[in-house]
Amino acid sequence: MSLEERIEGLRVRIQRACEAAGREPTSIELLPVSKKQPLSLIREAATLGFTRFGENYVQEGADKAAASPNLSFVLLGPLQRNKAKPALQHFTEIQSLDRPELAERLRHLAEELDLVRPVWIQVDLWDEATKLGGCTETDLPALIDSLGGDTRLPLRGLMAIPPPEDKAAFIQMAVLREHMQQDLGQSLRLSMGMSGDLEAAIAADSDQIRIGTAFFGERSY
Ligand SMILES: *Cc1c(COP(=O)(O)O)cnc(C)c1O
Repeated sequence: MSLEERIEGLRVRIQRACEAAGREPTSIELLPVSKKQPLSLIREAATLGFTRFGENYVQEGADKAAASPNLSFVLLGPLQRNKAKPALQHFTEIQSLDRPELAERLRHLAEELDLVRPVWIQVDLWDEATKLGGCTETDLPALIDSLGGDTRLPLRGLMAIPPPEDKAAFIQMAVLREHMQQDLGQSLRLSMGMSGDLEAAIAADSDQIRIGTAFFGERSY
């Protein structure tokens, strides 16, 4: 299947999910996830109008960003403190912020490098943090405090990887987003939904779906 055909298939799935949920397809951002995909495919996607891509590994994303000055890359994967500097330099957004020590390191470096980088907090309500990263609901207030309203790291939204096949988990995230918006008095976007579960995510009000295999095909590890 060609890239164009896969993207067309995705548009149909998004369209149907939106019809079922009473939502507008234009309200859903499709973020292609290009980890373990070659630059040639990313460039092909760029010719079809995609300019922002999700990556999981700092080094791989940094290399791709350096080779693609007209494209931007979002960091989705777990971030170690010692990789915080290249992450800020090469990615335009960090979606995997999940602990205060990392927030503090990023704030310090963002000031030193004179950069503004929107951040998303990765939330884990299902005790899978050891595997995938993510902040528990209990630890959320301390993490938000550690950002201190820093204008260099504006809080854009919440990112999650709910357990597959668990519709209730997606709804839990939608409810948490509502509560946090009220607590913080600001709007927050919700990033959830991958190739296998974008329908559950759209039904639960996700604003951004992160699609790897259904967009690019199988990853070449
Ligand atoms: C790999 C990955 C995706 C995309 O996964 P697919 O199942 O290939 O669509 C989305 N989000 C994160 C955080 C990922 O690591």
